[in-house]
Amino acid sequence: MHIGKTLISERRIRRRVRELGAQITSSYLNQDLTLIGVLNGSVCFMADLMREISLPVEVIFIRLSSYEGTWPGEISAGTDFNFDVAGRHVLIVEDIVDTGSTVKFIETKLSDLGATTVEICTLLDKPSLRVHQTRIRYIGFQIPDEFVVGYGLDYDGLYRNLRHVAILEE
Ligand code: 5GP
Repeated sequence: MHIGKTLISERRIRRRVRELGAQITSSYLNQDLTLIGVLNGSVCFMADLMREISLPVEVIFIRLSSYEGTWPGEISAGTDFNFDVAGRHVLIVEDIVDTGSTVKFIETKLSDLGATTVEICTLLDKPSLRVHQTRIRYIGFQIPDEFVVGYGLDYDGLYRNLRHVAILEE
């Protein structure tokens, strides 16, 4: 496996993240907002996005585990969902939404914890394999059904530190 064609350049990512930050800032003016990042993939996106949001936001990271051998993958919490989001607006920050099971799982958990609203912001949206229909409020880029790496996304633990998003090739 090796890094193939650049799908989204560093420059396009930077420009889009700035736009998303401005949009989020104007949507949540004067509201209590918590950003929830899903480790490890969202680390680059969250780091850049939160600095483009001009509001006093709370930032929390969570970790999920998915059991192997099942498809589309049964998900469980690798983190205790014991943080206080009751009465707050919550924005889930994801690297990529594929089948939608990850965001669906987190959305349900956060609603159960009493969040006022739960919305989703993803850098990448791969709609072709969607199983769980979820409304994604903020999308950086829609991409085709390719396995991508870079800007937080890995293959076997590698390539998260690329500044751009690339297609992984055989
Ligand atoms: P979902 O639960 O929506 O099916 O998948 C979300 C997770 O699958 C992402 O957070 C990511 O870890 C992984 N994933 C889905 N597509 C890709 C991809 O193209 N590249 C990488 N590196 N991970 C992916």
